[in-house]
Amino acid sequence: MPALPEILSFTDELVAIRRDLHAHPEIGFEEVRTSDIVAEKLASWGIEIHRGIGKTGLVGILHGTGGPGRRIGLRADMDALPIQEITNLPWRSTVAGKMHACGHDGHTTMLLGAARYLAENRGFKGTAVFVFQPAEEGLGGARSMIAEKLFERFPCDEIYGLHNSPDLDPGQISIFPGPAMAGADFFDIKITGRGSHGAMPHMGRDPIVVAMSLANALQTIVSRNADPREAAVLSITQIHAGSAYNVIPEEAVLAGTIRTFSPEIGALVRDRMREIAAGTAASFGVTIDVDIRNIFNVLVNHEAQTDAVVAVAAEIVGTEGVLTDGKPLMGSEDFADMLRVVPGAYAWVGHAGTVPVHNPAYVLDDGILPVGASLLARLVETRTAA
Ligand SMILES: [Zn+2]
Ligand SMILES: [Zn+2]
Repeated sequence: MPALPEILSFTDELVAIRRDLHAHPEIGFEEVRTSDIVAEKLASWGIEIHRGIGKTGLVGILHGTGGPGRRIGLRADMDALPIQEITNLPWRSTVAGKMHACGHDGHTTMLLGAARYLAENRGFKGTAVFVFQPAEEGLGGARSMIAEKLFERFPCDEIYGLHNSPDLDPGQISIFPGPAMAGADFFDIKITGRGSHGAMPHMGRDPIVVAMSLANALQTIVSRNADPREAAVLSITQIHAGSAYNVIPEEAVLAGTIRTFSPEIGALVRDRMREIAAGTAASFGVTIDVDIRNIFNVLVNHEAQTDAVVAVAAEIVGTEGVLTDGKPLMGSEDFADMLRVVPGAYAWVGHAGTVPVHNPAYVLDDGILPVGASLLARLVETRTAA
């Protein structure tokens, strides 16, 4: 059984929704059209809606007719990325510079599919809580929903989420307990020197030379300071300075990201960045300001809920399709914040696309839609009764 027959019967509707969302991508906290469509669909299936939680976020509530039971949350993200799509698909992005390059259009659609199925097959006990989250891509959508009392207003005993994976084949679902995705910080480092004529460097304090030296020195944190048995990444992804051939600028900025799995390694990387920056500032006679912000927590799958996903996934794709020996990813995911409040688990679901997420040629294969919707729907049916 690759998916629930009832869900397979409305696959065409899911494909249509997904392609429409794909053609009209909205980036974080701007998901106005998307959340309107979600609300309209949920309402048409008789599901109670609560809007404006975390700006464009919304929650759907569906009580089963089987009597009181547990409350199971299902979460999907809705935001696109600031990427110019280069596919030639008929449903490609119609918005310049914006693209559903992470497949969140598919996640939103799969959760809608689960919601429709459960609304039409309402015999379960307890309550399904459908969480449509904005702004997953580094803008703090999960945090803002939690700050706006998501789980106080709509308590969940457990919560589940999923991400599509072009790295897995169709019919494969991967999940394992414990740390599964890295925590992430973003940083900005501002070097303030003294501007001067490009021909007279001795009259200034060149922030570009300092930036080059500092960027190299920062690479020694992972290679020389971090325990080699622990995962750590420090990537400088932006360098900004200067605007003329013959002017040494006043300022240079380095920016980038840190990824780690343990709080100790995270603290070590941050401390060493500040120490190296302070030493570099002193040795070159410039000012260096370091701003490091935590963006994503480590995503930790809870044991019992991971087992629940494994069991339900096996129903859908067969035991041979369920992979439990995956390695943690250095990528990050803000569902981690929800898993710090409510026990739950996060799975990757394979599909026929082959281009990685966040690539301008990325394609989500629609064959995933009934599979993911079935996984989510069956989690409600089995876990509300657990
Ligand atoms: Zn992404
Ligand atoms: Zn994503």
